[in-house]
Amino acid sequence: MSSIPSPTPAAQQDLLLEMGHSLAPGVEPSATPQAVARVQLEGSAALELDYAVPADLIEKVRVGSRVKVPLQRQLVPGVVLELMARSSHGHRLKEISSLQGRGDPVFTSVLIKLAHWVADYYLCPVNHVLRAMLPQAVREKPESFITDSHLKLVHEPKPEELEKLRAKAPMQARIIDELLSAGGETTLSQLRRGLPRATTLLAPLLNKGWITRAEVRVERDPFENEEFLATQPLKLTEEQQAVHECVLAALQQPTEARPLLLHGVTGSGKTEIFLQAIAHVIERGQTALVLVPEISLTPQTIERFKARFSDGKATIAVLHSHLSDGERHDEWFKVHERRAQIVIGARSAIFAPLENLGIIIVDEEHEPSYKQEESPRYHARDLAVVRAKMEGCVVLLASATPCLESFNNAITGKYELLRMTRRTDGKSLPLIRVVDLRLERRKGSDSPDTRVLSEKLRSAIQKRLDKGEQTILFLNRRGFNTSLSCQSCGHVCQCQDCAIPMTWHKSEDYLICHICGSRRVPPKKCPACQDPGIRFAGYGTERVEQVLRQTFPTARLARVDTDTMQRKNQLRDTLRDFRSQKLDMLIGTQMIAKGLDFPNVTLVGVLNADLALNLPDFRAAERTFQLLTQVAGRAGRGEVKGEVVVQTFAPHSPAVQFARHGDYEGFAQQELDQRKALHYPPNDHVVLITSRSKHEGRAEFVLANLAKRLGDALASDMRMSDPIPSPLAKAHGQFRFQLLLRSPRIRALARLVQQTAKAMTFPEDVIVTWDVDAMSLM
Ligand code: ADP
Ligand code: ZN
Repeated sequence: MSSIPSPTPAAQQDLLLEMGHSLAPGVEPSATPQAVARVQLEGSAALELDYAVPADLIEKVRVGSRVKVPLQRQLVPGVVLELMARSSHGHRLKEISSLQGRGDPVFTSVLIKLAHWVADYYLCPVNHVLRAMLPQAVREKPESFITDSHLKLVHEPKPEELEKLRAKAPMQARIIDELLSAGGETTLSQLRRGLPRATTLLAPLLNKGWITRAEVRVERDPFENEEFLATQPLKLTEEQQAVHECVLAALQQPTEARPLLLHGVTGSGKTEIFLQAIAHVIERGQTALVLVPEISLTPQTIERFKARFSDGKATIAVLHSHLSDGERHDEWFKVHERRAQIVIGARSAIFAPLENLGIIIVDEEHEPSYKQEESPRYHARDLAVVRAKMEGCVVLLASATPCLESFNNAITGKYELLRMTRRTDGKSLPLIRVVDLRLERRKGSDSPDTRVLSEKLRSAIQKRLDKGEQTILFLNRRGFNTSLSCQSCGHVCQCQDCAIPMTWHKSEDYLICHICGSRRVPPKKCPACQDPGIRFAGYGTERVEQVLRQTFPTARLARVDTDTMQRKNQLRDTLRDFRSQKLDMLIGTQMIAKGLDFPNVTLVGVLNADLALNLPDFRAAERTFQLLTQVAGRAGRGEVKGEVVVQTFAPHSPAVQFARHGDYEGFAQQELDQRKALHYPPNDHVVLITSRSKHEGRAEFVLANLAKRLGDALASDMRMSDPIPSPLAKAHGQFRFQLLLRSPRIRALARLVQQTAKAMTFPEDVIVTWDVDAMSLM
């Protein structure tokens, strides 16, 4: 959407008047403090209008309530942003016509404040943000609960009464029997499982007054059939204790405390830190919000939280996209009705309507998936910091590989850095062996299969199969692998000015730099070693599975990626089978890179580390380092020491070498230096502008035009690339072009983009979007 944040309410109201939106007949609002409500309309146009609150609703309308209001002869939904004594622009106002649902606010006042912050920072209409804050099921069908009848035996028949009943109406007697054996209480749905006609049979018993019936709400609980055995807090290790004390100190003085950044190696026991911090918060009568990337919101993770608090001290709501609409609706209401004190969820759970927050935790804070890739393009980790400040609570970011933005904030003192450098089991991190694919190739055994699986990795797997140990193999095939690299020396064609791999645009047969836009004809031979084998041939997990099945015909293996894990609970079932050693091997994408803890896994293989390394993105090295480190953490969590085999054409790249030595800070330091020299984040912020259209020329023209105007207005500390085709040059039938802007002053840059765009009219068939702090440059 190329929509611009809305003008001020007063200006809008005047605008509407001009457009003939009649405000009369209305009422002159009286002077009660809540007489006027400023309402954000939920529709596609971002409008904020003032309405009078009718007397019968004064008691019920609150900031955050959803209402229906008249707009040009229609009733439209909206959210109350503010209540005031009188409207600032003197017109006679129309009245709010009704409340949606019971009218209790669905947005807390902090969430409304946060919505405005998001709209302002990410340059998007505030109604988009409010919409994103509610799960669809709640937005569209508020309070659509499932109910059941609770049945209670209130008159226990004497033996002779029961015998009489048994003779006369045996089925009714059976109901009594069922109730007796259930301890006197059950539900209608339970009863109907054995007695399909229970509803009819029940009537005479209800009339006689033997049984009572009450309607109760039934929660669709995604964990209905699970038992959680309560776990006790573990005795903390020395490192954990030190971190725990820092967290407690922050909790004592939350408004003084800086955001906490916990850099803890995989297996250092970060989750235990979370659990004990949360327990502390709950004890003080406060609530806790835990964000986890969707991908690692595994049953295992949830179990750990559910189990710790299964003693009834706190209720947990889980919010993520694999729930059914009904489950999500019910989980959200658990929070809304204050029945849940802890929320665990993915990105959008940052908007969970918790009140009285004590702590917000962001696990795996470096995960790019915290950034939403459609409007509102917010970053949930950054919002965690912003929301915590608004709530006056503690925020704890944690990762084994903090993103450079966060680490830089720690270096500069904006965040407080906490470290855990050792695994709780005292084991050293697994040994990482790097297989140089260039050498493998030179050895001559260049069949398609050895290209997937080097001899070293093949024999390592065989050893595990022989010993009954388990293996996990990763292939991180995200997006498209179009970078051009030499099959024999590993040379990758890079842009000389920007030091990122250039992308091969197959259709045009050009190499293009996605930062500065420079182009080059792809070389026919490798510029470094003159080998003609310079095209990159990609392969995916499916292909790997085939090779594995051929190479190890008797091995039991499963492939885990978004293609194979379509069915609900399929991931959970597959992981369970793997855990119980019904499987020898998993081959998968990032889906299995995180948060999993399998004691019997002693080998982890990374089939192609270069896929991440060669993405046309200045974060490519960081992503590779993160991936290798995360993956390595999956090996050797049990008694036997783990081994990691990394296959790469670039064995000497800093990302691979620092990961091999487990040296996060070394990597971060040199990467930060390079980023600074090249004006990339975290020193500079980026805004990515994308235009798209069915008509290639128009998309390009509009962006060129915008670039020209921006170029005229750029401040000296702002940089702009040329408009170029996006790496994803065509999607959904639309051509895409992009423009990358950078500046250390994000607010100034964002304002400039906003003002320049607002002053232009874009043709209807060209859509222009902007992504502030873009994480993906596709
Ligand atoms: P991380 O999240 O840092 O990778 P985890 O929280 O998953 O690490 O912890 C790794 C393992 O160590 C888990 O099996 C956990 O139960 C165990 N653990 C954590 N803290 C302790 C402790 N203080 N004593 C013993 N075991 C612990
Ligand atoms: Zn360049």
